[in-house]
Amino acid sequence: MQRHNFSAGPCILPKSVMEQAAAAVLDFNDSGLSLIEISHRSPDFVSVIEEARSLALELLGLENQGYQALFLQGGASTGFLMTAFNLLQNKAGYLNTGTWSSKAIKEAKLFGKVEELASSKNANFNYIPKGYAVPKGLDFVHLTSNNTIFGTQLFEFPETDCPLVCDMSSDIFSRELDFSQFDLIYAGAQKNMGPAGTTLVVVKEEILGQVSRTIPSMMDFQVHIAKDSMFNTPSVFAVYTSMLTLRWLKDLGGIKAIAPINDKKAELLYNEIDRNPLFTGFAKTDDRSKMNATFNLVDASGKERFDQLWQKAGINGLAGHRSVGGYRASMYNALPIDSVQVLVDVIQSFEKDY
Ligand SMILES: *Cc1c(COP(=O)(O)O)cnc(C)c1O
Repeated sequence: MQRHNFSAGPCILPKSVMEQAAAAVLDFNDSGLSLIEISHRSPDFVSVIEEARSLALELLGLENQGYQALFLQGGASTGFLMTAFNLLQNKAGYLNTGTWSSKAIKEAKLFGKVEELASSKNANFNYIPKGYAVPKGLDFVHLTSNNTIFGTQLFEFPETDCPLVCDMSSDIFSRELDFSQFDLIYAGAQKNMGPAGTTLVVVKEEILGQVSRTIPSMMDFQVHIAKDSMFNTPSVFAVYTSMLTLRWLKDLGGIKAIAPINDKKAELLYNEIDRNPLFTGFAKTDDRSKMNATFNLVDASGKERFDQLWQKAGINGLAGHRSVGGYRASMYNALPIDSVQVLVDVIQSFEKDY
């Protein structure tokens, strides 16, 4: 049966990437050896991580502007603490837009003062706060560009007189932005770039080295930069597969080419949710995420019937996060629009039977 994978993460990847990654596990570059059994210092693997690093900068339009790209371990959750370890001297500002922002705040508080610039917690994070003031003189401001669990997304970014940091785990490479407005971007690979096990960090070098504390080597962005993202053994399979996905995106025409496709997918699903009297969206309309659409049945008694229908259609990963309930359709870069059409058809056939 053909499957339609709406999983929030680890996520769907392009089929051609899966095939190449699988082949490399058996025989990497016709070497007769597996990708995962050779030295990470061998020229074949060094060229993989170098290509991944340069593709990341190229796709974001950040080449030759003082940025470095790293592929680290520990997930975006380690990004929460590394950000504060490397940048927080006195006080930072955090926009609290969901579970991941809240976790980032918790980690930052271990290192210094945190000012919550605004929070949408009062409405279970179903909107993005706007019009909040950003005080001058903060060490940095931290945002979460896409709230994977609640299905909201930032479409405007504040002006700051300090470095701007963004957790882009679940929407990096999905839409066109002026990425040079950010000084530090981090993203766990498993939402829109690759398998779990590596985290992309893109950092403007000039913001580093300003805090007075001693930073353990593995937590120090400057150490990883000095060692070309090879301070210790990188997650070779995750880096290789991420590199293949970035190549796939470049061959497609880059972010510029994928963004309108992502727009179309989101429009297709949200139009149906808005039209269909049996369903209701969770997030405030203006703040709806194009990556993760959260919605629910108006009448919960139809749940069993609806669940049967989408499962029978080959759909996977539609259950909402426990903190929101209902459904969540994650429409990352590799999800074909045909899969969204299958979901829309299921929603419509549920309405016909009702
Ligand atoms: C999934 C997710 C995280 C956590 O990522 P890990 O790699 O599991 O640590 C952080 N931020 C956002 C926005 C996420 O979607």
